[in-house]
Amino acid sequence: MIHISEADVYDVTIVGGGPAGLFSAFYSGLRELKTKIIEYHPFLGGKVNVYPEKIVWDIGAMPPLPGQQVVENMVQQGLTFDPEVVLNEEVVSIDKNEAGFFVVKASSGNVHYSKTVIVAVGGGILNPKRLPIANASDFENKNLHYTIKNLKDFKNKRVLISGGGNSATDWAKELSGIAKEVYIACRSDFSCHESQITYLQNHSVVCFTQTEIAELVANASGDRIEKVALKNRESGVKQYIPIDEVIVNHGYERDKSLLEDSPLDIQIFDHYFIAGSSSSESSISGLFAAGDILHHDGKLHLIAGAFQDAANAVNQAKLYLEPEATKTAMVSSHNEKLYGRNEKIVADLLRE
Ligand SMILES: Cc1cc2nc3c(=O)[nH]c(=O)nc-3n(C[C@H](O)[C@H](O)[C@H](O)COP(=O)(O)OP(=O)(O)OC[C@H]3O[C@@H](n4cnc5c(N)ncnc54)[C@H](O)[C@@H]3O)c2cc1C
Repeated sequence: MIHISEADVYDVTIVGGGPAGLFSAFYSGLRELKTKIIEYHPFLGGKVNVYPEKIVWDIGAMPPLPGQQVVENMVQQGLTFDPEVVLNEEVVSIDKNEAGFFVVKASSGNVHYSKTVIVAVGGGILNPKRLPIANASDFENKNLHYTIKNLKDFKNKRVLISGGGNSATDWAKELSGIAKEVYIACRSDFSCHESQITYLQNHSVVCFTQTEIAELVANASGDRIEKVALKNRESGVKQYIPIDEVIVNHGYERDKSLLEDSPLDIQIFDHYFIAGSSSSESSISGLFAAGDILHHDGKLHLIAGAFQDAANAVNQAKLYLEPEATKTAMVSSHNEKLYGRNEKIVADLLRE
């Protein structure tokens, strides 16, 4: 039998360092729990890193900010109470041992022990769905993109976006003021806010529905896409558009194995999500879920929703560990560890 020392066992281990994981870490510190975050990537921030330049408007009490700034703010808050952070670590299994501790195993062979676990893996480890065209991979990292890292790269260019969801139309909107020409092609009908389409049409974005990319035509040296053939799926008619950059936003493939193959009997919704309660409990005692991975009737798949799930998950973890604890945290300014910092913030404000 492996001996586990008390020091190796955390009160709360959070799997995933996105918005839900980071706010869980903050809240867990606020509730004075010994906390660890485990993140697959070498950086924190989760899916928000996919849209560093997109402006995020819908987080309470926050002015519109680009995704990258949102990440920086979330990381700063998430690390307030100095949780243990383990990066580059893919969690492959979560089990419970005879002593009732969770045993969290990573692909590296590392094993983490914890009294409770908060699963905050969002959409899992994300792989963008590739364009199903034979020569598409020839142009990756050249002028075929699966995300936008820097809007400036598209300045005065002719850009085609393939995809019809909120993300694709968001990019079209952002680029309409930067690129020379913007085209957006969607296989069926757009599935985004109606106001997005009105905006795009009023800003000279050419919108194609029932249309897919049928061919990527390379330039003479074969290293860049020069033209794209768009095919109307109803009429079969093809048209060639000269293009500088192509952005594909067809969603992401999900790796379902962490939960589907779990040794624990975690109740799953729709083959992927953790079927939980509105207070972030799962079917396993001591295991909680927060953020996009959690499903319940009132679930909000947004950053704001992830924050609420995180606070609920931590409050439930606290009660699991200390049944006599208060059900929710006191207001944050009452936390002893923040006293000194409150005074400094007030002093700075008075000085201004
Ligand atoms: C293009 C786009 C635009 C969006 N715009 C907005 C917006 O404007 N406003 C808004 O509120 N929301 C927006 N969203 C949604 C928002 O990003 C998500 O709701 C939010 O990121 C969910 O946070 P999360 O922490 O649950 O999951 P994620 O952000 O997905 O984070 C999960 C983290 O877990 C890690 N992880 C996964 N599996 C493992 C594993 N096995 N081991 C270790 N780590 C693992 C991942 O690497 C990731 O870092 C947008 C989403 C997209 C895709």
